[in-house]
Amino acid sequence: MKSWKCIENCGACCKFNLPEREDLSNILTANDIALINSMTDNDGWCKYLDKSNSKCMIYDSRPHFCRVNEFSASFKGYLKNGDKFLIKCCTQHISSIYGRKSRQMKAFKIAVAKK
Ligand code: SF4
Ligand code: SF4
Repeated sequence: MKSWKCIENCGACCKFNLPEREDLSNILTANDIALINSMTDNDGWCKYLDKSNSKCMIYDSRPHFCRVNEFSASFKGYLKNGDKFLIKCCTQHISSIYGRKSRQMKAFKIAVAKK
């Protein structure tokens, strides 16, 4: 069975587009939304993402909604399907940001295939 794993040098989930994320409307608080807006640059990317290497510059103090291991429990899809749900989410993010044939997608597929 595949296990979810975050890969290095990705950051595909660090670009925000809240109007397209209806699934978050009942999960994020008003404070979360205000924080996301304050973190978002004009191009939609989080200002804490180092674009030279796609790493989070505030990793140890990143907000709760960036901590997949904690935040995932807020989603019905995760409670029902576990890692399968997370793998689908990352696949969608990576595909929309970098493309289905990107090096990030290849690296993600290899990472989640490992036991
Ligand atoms: S999209 Fe998935 S693999 Fe990429 S940085 Fe986000 S959590 Fe990690
Ligand atoms: S705080 Fe870090 S993990 Fe969260 S969106 Fe920004 S760069 Fe990504």
